[in-house]
Amino acid sequence: MRKNILDFTLRELEEQILGLGEKKFRASQIFRQLHNKNIRNFDELKNIPKEFIGKIKDTFILEYLELLDIKKSSLDKTKKFLFQIPETKDKIESVLISEKDRNTICVSTQAGCNAGCEFCATGKIGFKKNLSAGEILAQIYTVSMEIGEKPTNIVYMGMGEPLLNYHEVIRSVEKISGESGLAMSPQRITVSTVGIAPMIRRLGDDQVKFNLALSLHSAINEKRNQIIPYNLRNSLGDLVEAVRHFHDRTKTRITIEYVMLKEFNDNMEDAKALADFCRNFPVKVNLIQYNPVENSPYQDSGKDRTEAFKEYLDRLNMVVNIRRSRGKDIDAACGQLANKLIHNNS
Ligand code: SF4
Repeated sequence: MRKNILDFTLRELEEQILGLGEKKFRASQIFRQLHNKNIRNFDELKNIPKEFIGKIKDTFILEYLELLDIKKSSLDKTKKFLFQIPETKDKIESVLISEKDRNTICVSTQAGCNAGCEFCATGKIGFKKNLSAGEILAQIYTVSMEIGEKPTNIVYMGMGEPLLNYHEVIRSVEKISGESGLAMSPQRITVSTVGIAPMIRRLGDDQVKFNLALSLHSAINEKRNQIIPYNLRNSLGDLVEAVRHFHDRTKTRITIEYVMLKEFNDNMEDAKALADFCRNFPVKVNLIQYNPVENSPYQDSGKDRTEAFKEYLDRLNMVVNIRRSRGKDIDAACGQLANKLIHNNS
């Protein structure tokens, strides 16, 4: 069976090209055009002998995701892209957040997710499949083509838990930051996790250069257990050890994501627990407005409670930002659009 050429790293492609009897440099020529020039068809390859293009077609496919829909927010410039994986028909989504001087693309790493977080629409879909590196990249390349420019930042915060698809996520980052790929600085790439402690340790051991965001949402074990089932497998104590290890090995400051859930995690005892958790390593905290999903018992904390929470942390000289929810009118919180379509179609 022919494999999708977008899935190969440069080194893997070199081996394949040598195996086809061509010189190694052809691999970087092809790789650059695939990942930097965004070609959609092997016939668009430049400076490659025609006969060799024929061999490439016999060996690989160049497959993108099917773009089903683009929704544009009327409240801000957020756009949501709904894709379908051609082979399995699973739906995934990406979000483009455009601000003054930056275009951030939020990508999915899995179709569905089995982490089952209570406040998340994707968690209600269940797990369908891990995306390949090529399927992760295809989201970025299609969104870039739609907006006519390359992204300034990439965040792995869409559908799925990136660290449960570790191998493909790392391979996709390699291509985004590699010189023959998008050549984007790893500091402009953020991978977000609900906290898979062994994989956070592994990121440290692999000395990755990108940013890590931890979706904490509560620093009290009993409460975190209620909203993030994964916390039952690795508690906050395990997470502290793992993040400390990550920071020791990479020297990277962690971003703590904290969704503000009214009267659930926004009391002063929650703020104190969060401050205690954050004392273990350098962090920046983002307090995020909640975009309620259907059938969820949670509501957003609202302006006053969020500001009081922030003030508590400010008094401890912590670095804290309030992040408003983007694309509220187009269900831009993770998994909402695919969730609606899947339920409407079933
Ligand atoms: S928040 Fe992330 S990890 Fe949790 S269910 Fe949703 S997609 Fe999965």
